[in-house]
Amino acid sequence: MSASSFTRSASALLGGGVSAGPPSLSRPGENSGAEETLLSRVSSRRQVDSQSVQRRLRDEAVEQLMQRFTPKIICLCFVGLFGIAVASFALVIVFWRAFFAALAYGSLPCDQPMLRYYMIFSILIGRISEQLSAKASRYMQVRGMSTRSVWVSTTLTSLIPGWITMMWGYTLIQGSSTCRTTNPHLFFDTRTYVYFQIAASLAYLLLGIPLILFAHRFLLAIRSLNSGEGVRGCAAMIKDLPKIPSDSPELQDPEDGSIMECSICLVSFSSLTVVRTPCKHYFCEPCLTKWCKANVTCPLCKSLVADPGPLSADSSEEV
Ligand SMILES: [Zn+2]
Ligand SMILES: [Zn+2]
Repeated sequence: MSASSFTRSASALLGGGVSAGPPSLSRPGENSGAEETLLSRVSSRRQVDSQSVQRRLRDEAVEQLMQRFTPKIICLCFVGLFGIAVASFALVIVFWRAFFAALAYGSLPCDQPMLRYYMIFSILIGRISEQLSAKASRYMQVRGMSTRSVWVSTTLTSLIPGWITMMWGYTLIQGSSTCRTTNPHLFFDTRTYVYFQIAASLAYLLLGIPLILFAHRFLLAIRSLNSGEGVRGCAAMIKDLPKIPSDSPELQDPEDGSIMECSICLVSFSSLTVVRTPCKHYFCEPCLTKWCKANVTCPLCKSLVADPGPLSADSSEEV
């Protein structure tokens, strides 16, 4: 790449020496084997150039996204995983205590006799709602409904039966006046489980909201990256770069004399407004302006295209 840029800059400095063209191509028909080799070499070199630019466009966008979000993603993942681990561990203990209490002390008197069946009922409802939501999701997928409506319906079919069961458990516990003294194990262990279920479901809902907000911000950031907002680049300076007329010898490939193309949009320079970077690389003006909204270096060789200067000057010079 440096060799080709050197050749091009050299040709530019020599004032269009390339317009004379390489001798082998000026006489078609002659020496066609060498001509083909040259053509294939030129086209493969250009392919390498444009591939490296395209790769850089992708890498740069991903890198900016990661820079903006990596600390937050790591923090969120750590807090989330820790919370889930602690809650799962607590849930297992609370569940088995209540289950064991229902089995062992179910025969002792309780003024809310249904309380002894709460755990069994809760497990059954869990299984039924799981199957219901799987059936609903399969049914909606078969009918070609959107991913979002499938997600909403499966979430609802899996959550609503659980919430109804929890509310039933809550009313049993609130409606009891003597069970806590006549059957304390059943009463307190089931109460702990019901309260835990309610707290976990609320946390699930409350955690869902920040997650949705974060996803929204992430999408906005992708959009602003595409439009170049919020990142300081040198787009404002592109208009000051020298414009090269499309028939200029500078835009001809020094090796085969053909007109080069923009390595960002891959369109031939013959139909574009072309600018030259200080590193003597050529791009069409719209492509380089878009690239420079979030960058200051040449997409091809990473030399500085223009210094955007202090932040205050940048805002006044917005394109
Ligand atoms: Zn272009
Ligand atoms: Zn360059």
